[in-house]
Order: sequence, then C-alpha cells, then structure tokens
Amino acid sequence: MRTIEIFLQISAIHLLWNAAQGLPVSSEELNLDVICPRIISRKEWNARNVSGLEPLWTTPTPYVVVHHGGILHYCYDQPECSEIVRSYQDLHIDKNHWLDIGYHFVIGEDSNVYEGRGWDYIGAHSPGYNSQSIGVSVIGDFSHFLPNEGALKALDSLITCGVALGKISPDYNVIGHRQARNTVCPGETFYKYVMKMPRWTANPTPVCMSNCAVNASNYNDNGLGQSFKDTNVVTLL
Ligand SMILES: [Zn+2]
Repeated sequence: MRTIEIFLQISAIHLLWNAAQGLPVSSEELNLDVICPRIISRKEWNARNVSGLEPLWTTPTPYVVVHHGGILHYCYDQPECSEIVRSYQDLHIDKNHWLDIGYHFVIGEDSNVYEGRGWDYIGAHSPGYNSQSIGVSVIGDFSHFLPNEGALKALDSLITCGVALGKISPDYNVIGHRQARNTVCPGETFYKYVMKMPRWTANPTPVCMSNCAVNASNYNDNGLGQSFKDTNVVTLL
C-alpha cells in the first residue's frame, strides 16, 4: 500500500472517529482536498439553473442510495461526462417534470463526481428515502460488469467526504435503489458490489418524520412531497 493511501485511510478513520464521538473536527483536520473526491460544480458542467428545492428533512442523512444510470452510455473524461449529466438533468426536468436532476451526485468513470442537487436538498431518486438520503448514480449500465476502479473509489471517498462534512451520518447505511422500489437499479453486478459495502443493510427502514404526510412504506414522492405516478414517468433506472 502506498504511503498516501495509508495517510488517507488514517485521516478518514480519525475524522470518522471524531464525528462518531461527537467531537469537533477542525478545519485543519478537515483537509477536504485530501478527503473528498474531485467534485465538478454545477457551473462547471453547465447545469441549468433551478429554484424551489426543499432542504433535506433529516440531516446528517442516515442513508446513501446507490444508482446506475441504466443507459448503455459511458464516459471517461470531463466533457463527455458533463454532457451525459446535462442529459440526465434535461430528462428529469423536461420529461419527469421534476425541479432538477434527481440525484444528489453523479459519478463518471473519469473518476470525477458531478454535483447534482448537492448535500443539502431533498432528492428525487428513491421513494421513501428522498428526504433522508444522499442519492448517488454512476453513469452507465452496470448489469453485467462493475464501474471502473476510479468510479468506485470516487463513490467511497464521496461518502467519506460526506461524513467528514457532517452531511452523512457516521452511522449511515448504504442501500441499492432496488431496495426502495421495483427496479433493477443499480444493475445486478453493481448491486452485488453494493451488498458487500461495509455499511450495506438488508433491511432498510426509512424513518417517517413528524412532517410525513403518509406512511413511509407507501411514500412515493418527487422530492417535494408531491405524489406522482411512476408509470407515467420517464426515469433513469
Ligand atoms: Zn436508480
């Protein structure tokens, strides 16, 4: 193992330990350049401007939900990946009539993370979990093979980054999209990988907060607490 990798692991463990103990994490310790993956801002990928997003109801979020794009369309550099992320946003706004791209973050096989709704707003990606999770999608279809190593590392470091920032709970659980609704997402092969992630849970339970309008098990929202019919919605898997 290279020295830098050992350093990264020690730094991450230290931060996670402090966070778990409720101890403050100083800005010096919080060396985000080291902890976090490269996050391409909305401005950098030329996102459409949106407004009206609602803050997450539960922070730090107890869940991370993993998706794949579900489309046989892959990318290996920033211009290509930016174009695909823009297409996701267009699909979600123009076809699904959502306010924005549904995911909180999108990962490309260029090893970059693309900012979707970001850390602070309700997503539109997994019924029951949109207000209490960070939804991350890897560009491509991973039914038959895994995302490349760069994308998998970006997923791992994005979660570590989220915990260090106080956006994801230190006690978070990981689930695949198929655990929230009837879908093959995040693809059979990728889902097997997700099931082996340290924080994967076989029995996720979305928490219905005091402001839940309906039972969580039936909760089907578009990120704004407004119901929609999935059958009428064109969505990424
Ligand atoms: Zn999905």
